[in-house]
Amino acid sequence: MKSTATYPAAIFSRRQLLGAAVGLATAAMTPWPVSAQGRTKLILLGTGGGPRPRKASSGSAQVIVINDAAYVVDCGDGVARQLVFANVTLPALRHIFITHQHSDHTADYGNLIWLAWTAGLRTQVDTWGPPPLQKMTELFFEMNATDIKARTADEGRIPLAPLVHVHELTRPGIVMQDDNVKVTAALVDHPPMVPSFAYRFDARDRSIVISGDTARSDSVVELAKGADVLVHTAYYLAAVDRLVTRVPNAASLKQSILNGQTSAEDTGRVAQAAGVKTLVLSHLIPPDDPAVTDQMWIAAARATFGGTIIVGKDLLEI
Ligand SMILES: [Zn+2]
Repeated sequence: MKSTATYPAAIFSRRQLLGAAVGLATAAMTPWPVSAQGRTKLILLGTGGGPRPRKASSGSAQVIVINDAAYVVDCGDGVARQLVFANVTLPALRHIFITHQHSDHTADYGNLIWLAWTAGLRTQVDTWGPPPLQKMTELFFEMNATDIKARTADEGRIPLAPLVHVHELTRPGIVMQDDNVKVTAALVDHPPMVPSFAYRFDARDRSIVISGDTARSDSVVELAKGADVLVHTAYYLAAVDRLVTRVPNAASLKQSILNGQTSAEDTGRVAQAAGVKTLVLSHLIPPDDPAVTDQMWIAAARATFGGTIIVGKDLLEI
């Protein structure tokens, strides 16, 4: 668990700083229930862009917790363990939303469900995302059938597969609604992954938008209109050049990033056009270049956005 003291105070309002500090301190001492705090919580679980496992940041994932129900958005490497570090009990898992079928967003999709079951999950989990989510889920259970059968028979666990309800999404619009939240999806621009989605969560007390991976997109602007928080992918151009010089597929990788992601300056433009209160830079590219400081990320987005800017850190509660 990182301390807020590691972040520049300038990026937080005093109220946010106090709120984050209180939230982190509380999370460190006690598990949910969230209802005790009566607030929809967003926790960044993994803030680095790209599938390569790293020390500095986990794979892409966020969780929104409302009234003891966990809504996970993306399942990059390490998502189950990051939930544990965030003190979100795994049996609270209720919904999983996948933005697109890149491995830094899906690597631990099946593992999250499977490991939550070993941690005591006994209730329905609905999963939402682009095809082939149904086939992925079926093949995952088939691949791990030996363990699942053994634990069901030997440890008295309820069968896992019937708990999981898969919903493949191909179009934008309202995804689902329950007593806690309404979830809406927009199609975003992340070639060659079609469809790729951004998701908006409208809870009673706040609205949160997760862009997923996308080039600068008017559909994100539309989806995020008036939202309290926009979590947006971001790259830092000068450092992308440094990043790609280290790999043999430099030219292709750089072109892929430029075609399918959003510069920090453009995330500010999107946030400004949408009129959001807080912009969270996440899915950072590069994810671990010490030469790109928080102040540099903020300065890039500040050039185009007048609201609050937060540089995403794993386990930061917003
Ligand atoms: Zn992607």
